[in-house]
Amino acid sequence: MNNDSGTPHSPVLYETIAFEPAAMAAKAESQKGHLEIPEAAQPVKFDKRYVFALALVHILALLAINSWFYSLTGLVVGIAGIFVFAMMGINIGYHRLLTHRGFSCPKWFEHTLALLGVCTLQDSPARWVAIHRLHHKDSDEQPDPHSPLVSFYWGHIGWIFVRNRQFNKVTNFECYVRDLLRDPFYLKLERNSLWLFVYFVHALLFLAAGYAIGWFTTGTLEGATQMGFSLLVWGVFVRTVFVLHSTWAINSISHLWGYRNYKTDDNSRNNWLINLISHGEGWHNNHHAEQTSASHGHFWYEFDLTWLVIRGFECVGLAKKVVRPRCWKAGQKLSGEARAG
Ligand SMILES: [Zn+2]
Ligand SMILES: [Zn+2]
Repeated sequence: MNNDSGTPHSPVLYETIAFEPAAMAAKAESQKGHLEIPEAAQPVKFDKRYVFALALVHILALLAINSWFYSLTGLVVGIAGIFVFAMMGINIGYHRLLTHRGFSCPKWFEHTLALLGVCTLQDSPARWVAIHRLHHKDSDEQPDPHSPLVSFYWGHIGWIFVRNRQFNKVTNFECYVRDLLRDPFYLKLERNSLWLFVYFVHALLFLAAGYAIGWFTTGTLEGATQMGFSLLVWGVFVRTVFVLHSTWAINSISHLWGYRNYKTDDNSRNNWLINLISHGEGWHNNHHAEQTSASHGHFWYEFDLTWLVIRGFECVGLAKKVVRPRCWKAGQKLSGEARAG
């Protein structure tokens, strides 16, 4: 976790030069055994709000099966939304900036990124950050809110449905995100679930934009209605579900399968497939080793699109104090093999 955040945490075990070839990584996979559900989530009590909201968005996304909702515009808007809301909002905003402070930027820009993150239906910024900091504090130990060492289902989605006293208790919650809650902007989003209202408004804006596009292109109410709902289903619901699962896959798959550059005290992995769908977040073992680094790719073959965007922000003066991997600072942008040797 970010040392600058002022939140309590265990020190990260950095073993930066311990490159582990694939065979060794496979052997290491069995180092961590089965875990029980976190004590704070026992006895299991379902949180109906989360069960309902996530079931509903999945059902709404399934409307895409009906070809009436399909349009090329809707598909393109949905794909573009993955970059805008997931990469900018979650990867850069919620994760690398708010949770780990891998760079600094003007407040208006930070708030804009946070609002983009809100439009992914992944909880409010403060709650997301609190849970993620808890994950880094006890990664793949029993208190970890979403370790897949409990079960793949638990690590991927099961943990969200269950009440966890660690982040439902206001005192705990505030303790882990005191830095964020000092900002009235995040407090407002938290109160009366305003963040959820923002998500609804953004969905309505997609619907309205679709109506406008449909009206101008077809000149008929039927065409406008079809395009409006196409943008709502593909541009909001399908995109939301895709992004939810790509984020959850980092918690589940990237803690089970892949290679390890660093012998971190957890089961984190670098997984190229997850990296592909999450635009750089798949180099998860690198991230656990150096959490404040704004780049999760450490070697030339570890492509990290999110990092390139942050680098772009840095070039135009929007991002400052950008934290880079330590191996870069030492001028050792070497391949793993070179480091191993
Ligand atoms: Zn992790
Ligand atoms: Zn993190």
